[in-house]
Amino acid sequence: MAHPKRKHSRSRSRKRRTHQKVSKPLLVECKECHRQKKAHMVCPFCGYYGGKEVVKIEIKEKKKKQ
Ligand SMILES: [Zn+2]
Repeated sequence: MAHPKRKHSRSRSRKRRTHQKVSKPLLVECKECHRQKKAHMVCPFCGYYGGKEVVKIEIKEKKKKQ
């Protein structure tokens, strides 16, 4: 099997990895609550997607009552 003759320097490995980056999630403004949310995802704050309530969010309502 092919085998590396010499150890790569840390610098060499790090130079290669400068191209590996985690991209930021695409954020858009929610049409219902006007907060930043991920595009193509149900809003985590109001539970709306495409002008309809898809998921009911109960955590905040409970906190307000207490
Ligand atoms: Zn929202």
